[in-house]
Amino acid sequence: MNEYRIVSFSGGKDSTAMLLRLMELNEPISEVIWCDTYKEFPEMYSHIAKVRKAVENAGIKFTELRAEHSFDYYMFEKYIDRKNVNVVEKYNDPLGYSWAGPRMRWCTRVLKLDVVSKYIKEIEKKYSVIQYIGIAADEQYRIERKISVGQRHPLVEWNWTEQMCLDYCYSKGYDWNGLYTHFTRASCWCCPLQSLDNLRNLYRFYPKLWDELKDMDKKTWRNFRADFTVEQLEKRFVLENDRTEKGLTINPHSADFRTALKYALGG
Ligand code: SF4
Repeated sequence: MNEYRIVSFSGGKDSTAMLLRLMELNEPISEVIWCDTYKEFPEMYSHIAKVRKAVENAGIKFTELRAEHSFDYYMFEKYIDRKNVNVVEKYNDPLGYSWAGPRMRWCTRVLKLDVVSKYIKEIEKKYSVIQYIGIAADEQYRIERKISVGQRHPLVEWNWTEQMCLDYCYSKGYDWNGLYTHFTRASCWCCPLQSLDNLRNLYRFYPKLWDELKDMDKKTWRNFRADFTVEQLEKRFVLENDRTEKGLTINPHSADFRTALKYALGG
């Protein structure tokens, strides 16, 4: 069987650096695939368009993949045959998967992994597929979890760390219009699994997306995070801004801040 070399491109700094470097080295690439979660940052969509142009100008096929339905459909509307009786009883057998949780990343599976795997399986009927995955050398835990036959990890082979990937992208003129100055990860803007710092910056720098996040949270049954709803997070960020202006501590471990937060949340 002939070889078919697919670059799995997420749009993030690591897979972008991998792709740009593979192209620079004139490595044979049969196709670049990118899977849209429907919830990328506007800057990310612009970045994807820019990379796509560069890829196609180099004569390489660029394919956009999407799940059959939107993120919102799976989150709010899909009927789920639930095994968890507690959820059925407590929330009156709700529709939709709701927010992802640490042990229930339905969106990664439904909107990305299943879509990519279905696409690659079709190609495997005719070719021996080699898939290039952009995992950085300092993400050891992800490498161990993901190694499988037919996959290559060029960033690991080159010993490129996440920071090196970002620097390389910047040096090639790809800067996501500053997205990485506010966020350590540039995946879905509505991800409940992102850090508190990322969420704080979403509130501060992306007010429209933040309002959308609040609307999403009001429409669904599962808590956004174990500790905060989106509305409660907003109260926390408002309190932090207020206290910073007054020169008061916002250290989450200080009793003073914790008391003020409890009061702000109506506790
Ligand atoms: S980034 Fe978050 S919201 Fe997006 S697919 Fe991954 S887990 Fe789901």
